Amino acid sequence: MIKTRAIVLHRFPYSDSSWIVKALTEECGIISFIVKGGKRKESPFKGALDPLSLSEVVFRQNPNTELQFIKEATLLEWRKNLREDLLSLAKAQVMAEMILRYAPQGVPLQDEFQLLERATSELDQPADTPKNNIFAKWLLSTCEMWGYDLDLGTCSRCGGTLESSAADFFPETGGFVCKSCLGVESPRAKLETVNGLWALRQGAEIQHPQFTENALLAYLRTHIGFLKEINSIKFLNETRKLFEE
Ligand SMILES: [Zn+2]
Repeated sequence: MIKTRAIVLHRFPYSDSSWIVKALTEECGIISFIVKGGKRKESPFKGALDPLSLSEVVFRQNPNTELQFIKEATLLEWRKNLREDLLSLAKAQVMAEMILRYAPQGVPLQDEFQLLERATSELDQPADTPKNNIFAKWLLSTCEMWGYDLDLGTCSRCGGTLESSAADFFPETGGFVCKSCLGVESPRAKLETVNGLWALRQGAEIQHPQFTENALLAYLRTHIGFLKEINSIKFLNETRKLFEE
């Protein structure tokens, strides 16, 4: 029997009364569970299998099947504040979907678990806590974790160390260009993007996070080839229109 913490990444109905739940477990990576009777009101699992919940699950891993039967699930964190903040919710959904689609299958994913646990817990802080950097930090750490380390501190043309915000950034290559290398050329990246990436490096608050987040998403997209589109990005973009400039 395996007992491990798990973050619910996705859940969909299976028959009238059951769920299929895909969760990132701390010990065994991504596991698909079938939860018979999970939709019934009197289900013992209650909020433990809601998407983005942190729970402790108990199951026996049957190597001959893709779907595991869950024996117990105990809710540890339901993430109430995160759920009440649409923008945080939208960002958390993108993280969950990216893990589900792009993390390696069938292997332990302890680093992925740790980063997602930290990011969702930070997004779950009370509403007045600054949250601008959380998703960008997660994206940057994910680049590194998946082998596409992004060097935020070096000009890709002269190799010099950046002393202030870069003048340009190319998301396809992850290359920064310093002010003297750019010279009189017009930058392709927006000022909000390079300033945000600089703030991320300095640990300062990012002013317009959607530019930084989009630049990091574009960088990752080039490297892992995800244009199997991430569906939840559409919801994030709609939500940004409501809450960000
Ligand atoms: Zn340079």
